Amino acid sequence: MRIVVQKFGGTSVASPENRALAVKKIKAALEQGYSPVVVVSAMGRRGESYATDTLIALAREVYKDIAPRELDQIMCCGEIISAVTMTATLQAEGINAVMLTGGQAGVTTDNNFNNARILKVDPTRLINLIKAGKLPVVCGFQGISLDGELTTLGRGGSDTTAAALGAALNAELVEIYTDVDGIMTADPRMVSNAKILDCVSYSEVCQLAHQGAKVIHPRAVEIVMPKSIPLVVKSTFSDAPGTLITNIFPENTEGDAVTDRIATGVTYLSDIAQIKIDVANDNSGQSSSKVFNLMAANGISVDLINVLPGQIMFTVGEGFADQARAKLAQMGYQSTVVPDCAKVSVVGGGMREVPGVMASFVEALADNDIGILQTVDSHTSISALIRKADIQKAVTALHEKFTLSN
Ligand code: ADP
Ligand code: ASP
Ligand code: MG
Repeated sequence: MRIVVQKFGGTSVASPENRALAVKKIKAALEQGYSPVVVVSAMGRRGESYATDTLIALAREVYKDIAPRELDQIMCCGEIISAVTMTATLQAEGINAVMLTGGQAGVTTDNNFNNARILKVDPTRLINLIKAGKLPVVCGFQGISLDGELTTLGRGGSDTTAAALGAALNAELVEIYTDVDGIMTADPRMVSNAKILDCVSYSEVCQLAHQGAKVIHPRAVEIVMPKSIPLVVKSTFSDAPGTLITNIFPENTEGDAVTDRIATGVTYLSDIAQIKIDVANDNSGQSSSKVFNLMAANGISVDLINVLPGQIMFTVGEGFADQARAKLAQMGYQSTVVPDCAKVSVVGGGMREVPGVMASFVEALADNDIGILQTVDSHTSISALIRKADIQKAVTALHEKFTLSN
């Protein structure tokens, strides 16, 4: 059995015309001798009738603080509507398609509503359907917990479903069909001359995704990586080959990095607040452990951490800034909150041990009068905290500086 998992995102299933294009991709896989397993997202984007954001808005209009469990029930409806519609489209074409919810397809999760983690995938039912000549159409983004609760996997989680099914079925390939021709050197909505990347390593894509490239969910990449199952991100709307995510590179590349490029892409994350705490008067030697334990105890996740003599700096999601400041004040720490920040990052497996990368990074920002509030780097990325108002300028300047444009 040569299995391919084909995942179609929101725009790919939004209208009869788009679904007809998706069906063409499924038929092409059948013609090549594959047994396809189709995974679908909810139909359309924000504002469209059955899109996830529309369903959330519907519930929150009634009660802004609706419980996470109930929110999951309504969010699951988006993928159910989409999977039924796609199944009907395939059946009308004479294809023996069968619709399955996440739970029916064997996806078991923990009980963390709105952001559940997959605990296991039992592929038995899918395998039996395939052996019986059926084509399963599975609801992405959802699972069922051990105690029978419907759960969702976090926004963008249909990619995660596709990857998890691919791993459980030992698929030859997982295809992520979307509305762009592949993973690009920057978000094309921000940089008009961004380029499609032909081939990227799992770890580079994970970094790009964690640092804000919303084209693929990072969990999806993490799930297929240990089994080295290739992922391809491509468009439903063209015949472009897309971006291959793999560990096995064509010639002139080696190991984990594509060696002929220093930078692979530029990303950004917005809606961040910087918190600066003066700890000069705390002689206990415990200030950083007290501060970070306090954040953890309140479920506040922190990033861009700098611990300096007399000062601690870090960032939190904008929505957590007031809570963080209040909790710190209760503990006797005065903090300054800098709101409306963003993190811009340059990611590239090839920047490891290359001198001058940081110099180019800060020069690009300085030449465009973009103030840096903080920086952080790893072997394969450099990030700066900047003002949110400077995002467009910063992403464009870095994209230009690292010669990523077309
Ligand atoms: P889908 O509904 O198909 O899952 P998404 O909206 O989740 O689609 O992801 C596709 C979108 O990701 C594109 O329309 C594009 O605007 C955005 N995007 C952000 N960063 C990148 C990037 N580096 N490369 C390609 N697309 C990106
Ligand atoms: N429909 C879900 C969302 O909008 C999952 C997905 O599209 O991947 O987040
Ligand atoms: Mg998506």
